[in-house]
Amino acid sequence: MMGLIKGMGVTLKTMTRKKVTHRYPDEPIPMPDRFRGIQHFDPEKCVVCNQCARVCPTDCITLTGRKHPDPGKRGKIIDTFDINFEICILCDLCTEVCPTEAIVMTQNFELATYSRDDLYKNMEWLHENNTNIRGGPQ
Ligand code: SF4
Ligand code: SF4
Repeated sequence: MMGLIKGMGVTLKTMTRKKVTHRYPDEPIPMPDRFRGIQHFDPEKCVVCNQCARVCPTDCITLTGRKHPDPGKRGKIIDTFDINFEICILCDLCTEVCPTEAIVMTQNFELATYSRDDLYKNMEWLHENNTNIRGGPQ
């Protein structure tokens, strides 16, 4: 009898406790401020300096650019910018080294897919990944 009362006590205590589980994915999980998620890329800001690709420890950034077509303007414009998320370790080095904040971290992390091919993200995809930018909108 004592065992039953004790058991009921534990049940009642647990029922009134605050829930620790999240209704994910129906409700997004709030991430810490410094969370390193999938990058957002802004082609307008990129000066094709190649520093992000050079610093990347896993060589997962591939980019190409060309001279600005307007002879009155200096510098280069970006043509392609791809990140291979099969091997990106979200270390943040590419965003730290970028002189123009063309590449920045977001707090988005959902990359689950059935195909490895889907883990190659191009410039358009990275540009559209523009929610939850770390540190607020750029
Ligand atoms: S976060 Fe790190 S591993 Fe990923 S692309 Fe940037 S530098 Fe490379
Ligand atoms: S470091 Fe920034 S500006 Fe330079 S190529 Fe990479 S994204 Fe573009």
